[in-house]
Amino acid sequence: MKFFLLLAAFFVVIWLMRGGRRRVPPSPPPQAPVVPPAGAPSASESIVACVHCGLHLPQSEAVTGEVGWFCGDAHRQAHDIDARS
Ligand SMILES: [Zn+2]
Repeated sequence: MKFFLLLAAFFVVIWLMRGGRRRVPPSPPPQAPVVPPAGAPSASESIVACVHCGLHLPQSEAVTGEVGWFCGDAHRQAHDIDARS
């Protein structure tokens, strides 16, 4: 019986220590600014949709045409041919 009382007291002490830590949360460690890898589209870059196939891609990788953005020269030319016919 004495063993169980000691065990209970031990768990109470552990519980109090954990509760004390919760009352004073440690400040989060300073995080280094996340630098996106070179070549990856930045989060602020706008995404455009190809007029021909609807593919979404960063604006820097898109090709501009008369009616909007295209995913490549092939789709820009294909759309021009479709528009003429
Ligand atoms: Zn396309």
